[in-house]
Amino acid sequence: MKKKIGLIAVMAALLVLVYFCQLAGDMLWDSAARERETAAAGSAKEGTRLVVVDPGHGGIDAGKVGINGVEEKEINLKISLKIKEILNKEKVDVILTRESDERLADTQVSDLKERVSIMNNQKPVLAVSIHQNSYHEESVSGSQVFYYTDSTEGKQAAEILQRCLKELDPENAKNAAANNTYYILKKTEVPVVIVECGFLSNYSEAEKLAEEAYQQSLAEAVSKGILQYIQ
Ligand SMILES: [Zn+2]
Repeated sequence: MKKKIGLIAVMAALLVLVYFCQLAGDMLWDSAARERETAAAGSAKEGTRLVVVDPGHGGIDAGKVGINGVEEKEINLKISLKIKEILNKEKVDVILTRESDERLADTQVSDLKERVSIMNNQKPVLAVSIHQNSYHEESVSGSQVFYYTDSTEGKQAAEILQRCLKELDPENAKNAAANNTYYILKKTEVPVVIVECGFLSNYSEAEKLAEEAYQQSLAEAVSKGILQYIQ
């Protein structure tokens, strides 16, 4: 009889144990589900991430004028509009500092101030200013990305973008470069880079920069870099 009572007690204890194991399992399952929800919310947040793209110059400020007569302001805007289109498809919000051929203020200094204030007020994860370069020696060519000397994030973004641009033009030996004199780099409080897409003083590069297909390739390279940096 004692043996029987002992057996029942053991079985009851086992049942209680199984019940608690199930309970613990359910709790673990719940917490795993909660973690998955948090991860989903995180990726939903990615969809609201914002980038400011700044097509340099505009209106009476043409920027550099190419050896072939093309104006920097126009190329900057075309590439920037394409970047916006590509990034929007990737669910990244883009604010352009200008969407047409206009200057943002009466003077060049106030125009730059206006661009910086858009970047600082919108607080994007990254601001990208699009420009074209020029040099007194025609032979110089290739895109180059600049970042503010003291910005670790700017440097990281610039190196990623430079790498993507080099994939487009493997002969380009230029590296991302630090700078502490450009107004936009100095005054912008969010990570910011200036992309000099190419040299309008180099005839063959100026001709390419004027082509829609090359503008599209540049926009894709810059967008790829932006996506890599923000992801
Ligand atoms: Zn420029």
